[in-house]
Amino acid sequence: MNIGILGGGIGGLSTAIALKQEGFDVSVYERHSKPTEIGAGIVCWPNASFVLEQLGILGEVAKVSGSLNYMNRFSNTGESIGSLNINELNRLMKYPSYSIIRKDLMRILIRRTIELNINVHYQHDVTGLSDNHGSTSVKFSNGKSIKPDIIIGADGRMRSLSRKYVNGSNTPIYQGFINWVGVFESKSVNFSDLSVSDYWGTGERFGIVPISNNKAYWAGGVVSEKMSEVNPSKYKSELNSLFSSWPDIITRIINETPESSINKIYVHDHDPIDKWHKNNVILLGDAAHSPLPTSGQGACQALEDAWHITRCLKENINNISKAFEQFTELRKSKTSGITMGGRQLASSIFNQDVEFCKHRNLASKNTNYQGAVIGMAKGWSSGLPISA
Ligand SMILES: Cc1cc2nc3c(=O)[nH]c(=O)nc-3n(C[C@H](O)[C@H](O)[C@H](O)COP(=O)(O)OP(=O)(O)OC[C@H]3O[C@@H](n4cnc5c(N)ncnc54)[C@H](O)[C@@H]3O)c2cc1C
Repeated sequence: MNIGILGGGIGGLSTAIALKQEGFDVSVYERHSKPTEIGAGIVCWPNASFVLEQLGILGEVAKVSGSLNYMNRFSNTGESIGSLNINELNRLMKYPSYSIIRKDLMRILIRRTIELNINVHYQHDVTGLSDNHGSTSVKFSNGKSIKPDIIIGADGRMRSLSRKYVNGSNTPIYQGFINWVGVFESKSVNFSDLSVSDYWGTGERFGIVPISNNKAYWAGGVVSEKMSEVNPSKYKSELNSLFSSWPDIITRIINETPESSINKIYVHDHDPIDKWHKNNVILLGDAAHSPLPTSGQGACQALEDAWHITRCLKENINNISKAFEQFTELRKSKTSGITMGGRQLASSIFNQDVEFCKHRNLASKNTNYQGAVIGMAKGWSSGLPISA
């Protein structure tokens, strides 16, 4: 049985590794000429760390990551409005949380695919999937085509052709805010406590996630009804016009981050879908569910998919439909909940009503963060053999 994976991002590569480790014959097809690096960094929460361990790369990830301690929330004047104990989350879930630069995670995944002799075919841009009496063929813009026994659609959030094939459409929804993301490194700053800092304004937000004492990735966000220009030479002035009166660390980070490492993203997600498979094609990662960055779980859920689909296929080796049904059943409600949770948090963080934001900050200050940690641990552990 051979398996073709469309998309060589976090979901596609981790699935290829998980399947190959179980003896499946697997190939990956990626449109770019090299691994993609969109997004500055990600937090691998304990549920993701469990999967990274199963993939044999948790040790490598740990070497280049930050071991986070707290997630501290502040108002835009720097007043503390709550603190979530990440060590407690890790203790409950029995795995660490790691902050990592996205391209470092991609490099580690690629290295593991090489170790396992997995074929990753770059410059294979899928142009269409077609149904041939219940099986599926895939065409690429380079003129090649494939017809594997199983196709895994891991072609991401914005233009997933596999999602279109399975679900009939692929309609990312612009959620009305922009994120500028970047990576900052400077000896003059010391993030010694390795804690996330999340500053909330009135329709704006700035988050800083340290990787080491001197390195962090960050995201500055603002409400924007329309999607308009993307002009890298203006990013810093756009950011400064929003955040210059915010705490000093933010303006330093904006001004000292190389312009070339800043990206501007009009943030989209998808409504949850019911249909995750058709014929011999199954969706996973952002192609199946793409929560907002406010969920903090997009990449973590793509990693979870890799572990689950491998188990489902292994247990139902002679019955692909059953494997797909089982996978969908296992994954749908957790990922839908995460998508809706991401939207709910975004609608609060990016709220533009002054009174609402005052109450929101007060509510955050009065939040029982110990209770919140217990809830997060339970939700994020669900479906995995990790306790919480
Ligand atoms: C600004 C931002 C911040 C984020 N922060 C976090 C975070 O902190 N934590 C977290 O867990 N998640 C985060 N995410 C989400 C996370 O990046 C994604 O959920 C995760 O990358 C999903 O993995 P994937 O493999 O499904 O998709 P991707 O990683 O997007 O991979 C899809 C791959 O498919 C390829 N592809 C697409 N179309 C084709 C085609 N036609 N032919 C061939 N290949 C194709 C693409 O080139 C890409 O390599 C963030 C996302 C954004 C936008």
